[in-house]
Amino acid sequence: MAIFKIVYWLAIIAEMVIRAPISKLQRKEAKSEQRVSTQEKTLLGLLFLTMFFIPLAYSTTKWLDFANYSLPVWAGWLGVVLMVCALLVFWRAHADLGLNWSPSLEIRKEHKLITNGIFEYIRHPMYASQWIWVIAQPLLLQNWIAGLANLLLFIVFYFVRVRAEEKMMLDTFRDEYREYMKRTGTVVPRRFKLGHHDVNR
Ligand code: SAH
Repeated sequence: MAIFKIVYWLAIIAEMVIRAPISKLQRKEAKSEQRVSTQEKTLLGLLFLTMFFIPLAYSTTKWLDFANYSLPVWAGWLGVVLMVCALLVFWRAHADLGLNWSPSLEIRKEHKLITNGIFEYIRHPMYASQWIWVIAQPLLLQNWIAGLANLLLFIVFYFVRVRAEEKMMLDTFRDEYREYMKRTGTVVPRRFKLGHHDVNR
């Protein structure tokens, strides 16, 4: 159904609107560390392809139609609900991380370790949001290539990135980050029980 494609593109626009102001400001920030590998640059480029250009080709041409599949309508609506969740988490993560955000692995001169807001529960809310996104994508774009390529690529990117990012954070913030790791989950909260929480503060 056309509505599901439209929701996908609205979500793309929403992410651009949420990120644009932070992206613009953070470029001007002085950096004390940059760890950008060719491997990561390649993965980021490919991710952009599978998140943007392949869906664009799928939505505007017939080139990929041979790989279409069709899901029941409820699956599409599940995709819509998931997409809204992905956007909420994405927005919260940007609101809490502010100028400490960067597209690749960087530490700015004024870098602050954020442990509040959504970061109180999980260390990687933006990647959590992206997990939800790549699960929603094949429900909204019902095509083996436009729907699934992003998911497959993100699985690889996620593990490479989190490993390198946590190493950089540990090198920079040392025990502060080590303690922070103990009380948080990566993309799923470590504890859902409220009682526990205060005892460990
Ligand atoms: N992994 C986080 C942030 C992604 S942006 C998330 O999924 O939400 C990547 C940059 O965020 C890294 O270059 C690092 O400098 C910064 N970063 C990651 N966790 C942080 C934290 N808890 N506090 C401050 N900066 C953080």
